[in-house]
Amino acid sequence: MSLARRGLCLVLAAPSGAGKTSITRALLQAEPELALSVSVTTRTPRPGEQEGVHYFFRSQAAFDAMVGRGELLEWAGVFSRSYGSPRAPVEAALAAGRDIVFDIDWQGHRQLRAALPGDVVGLFILPPSLTELEARLRGRGGDTEAEIARRMAQARDEMSHAPEFDHVLVNDDFEQTVAQTRAVLQAARLATARQIGLAAFLAAPNMRMTPE
Ligand code: GDP
Ligand code: ADP
Ligand code: 5GP
Repeated sequence: MSLARRGLCLVLAAPSGAGKTSITRALLQAEPELALSVSVTTRTPRPGEQEGVHYFFRSQAAFDAMVGRGELLEWAGVFSRSYGSPRAPVEAALAAGRDIVFDIDWQGHRQLRAALPGDVVGLFILPPSLTELEARLRGRGGDTEAEIARRMAQARDEMSHAPEFDHVLVNDDFEQTVAQTRAVLQAARLATARQIGLAAFLAAPNMRMTPE
C-alpha cells in the first residue's frame, strides 16, 4: 500500500564510461514502474542502438526546431553534439505519479533542477579510477580512439560537478552499485514532500489507500 504521490525525476550522471547506461538498464529491469527519459541526440547511433529506445536520433536542424518549439525540458552540447530531454513524457509521468530516470550530463541536471524544483533527485556515479574508466571505454567497443581520448579529456571536468548532486557513489562492484541506486530511489519515493495523499489520509485514516 502507498499514499498517492507525485512522481520524481532520478538523474544519473557520470563521466562517459563510468557505467550510467549499464546501471540504468539494470535499474529499469528491477523497477518495472520506472520509466526512462529517452533523449534526443544529434550523434549517430552506435551498433545496436535503436531509434526511440536508446535515443531519438535527429539532424541538428530538427533538434534546433524542437528547441524552438519548446519541446525540450533541457538541452546541452556534449562532445560537440546536442542532447536534450523531451518535455511531454516527463510532465505526463510526474502528474500520473510515475518516476522517470534520466541518463544525462551535469548541465542537464542543473537545468532540470531549475525547471522542476523539488522533483529532481541527483545521483552522481564515479569510476573507481581514471585508469579503470579508460579500460571500460575501450572495453565497450564502438568508440574510435579519438572519441575515447575526447571522453577521457572531459572526464575530470564532468567529475568536478559531483558536489552539485544529492548523492554520490563509486561504481566498483556492479551489483552493489545497482542496490545502492535502488536504495536512493526507494528513499526518495518516501520523502514526505512527495506524499500528496498524506493530508487526505490524516483526514480520513480509515479510507483505503491506493494499492501498490
Ligand atoms: P555515454 O554516457 O558514454 O553512454 O554517452 P552518451 O552518448 O550516451 O551520452 C553523451 C553525454 O550526453 C553524456 O554526458 C550524457 O549524460 C549526456 N546526455 C545524454 N542524454 C542527455 C539529455 O537528454 N540531456 C542532456 N543535457 N545530456 C544528455
Ligand atoms: P556510460 O553509459 O556511463 O558511458 P556504460 O554503461 O556504457 O557507461 O559502461 C562502460 C563499460 O563499462 C561497459 O562496457 C560496461 O559493461 C562496463 N561496466 C559498467 N559498470 C562496470 C563495473 N562496475 N565493473 C566493470 N565494468 C563495468
Ligand atoms: P553518448 O553519446 O555516449 O550516448 O552520451 C554522451 C553523454 O551525453 C553522456 O554523458 C550522456 O549522459 C549525455 N546525454 C545523453 N542524453 C542527454 C540529454 O538528453 N541531455 C543532456 N544534458 N545530456 C545527455
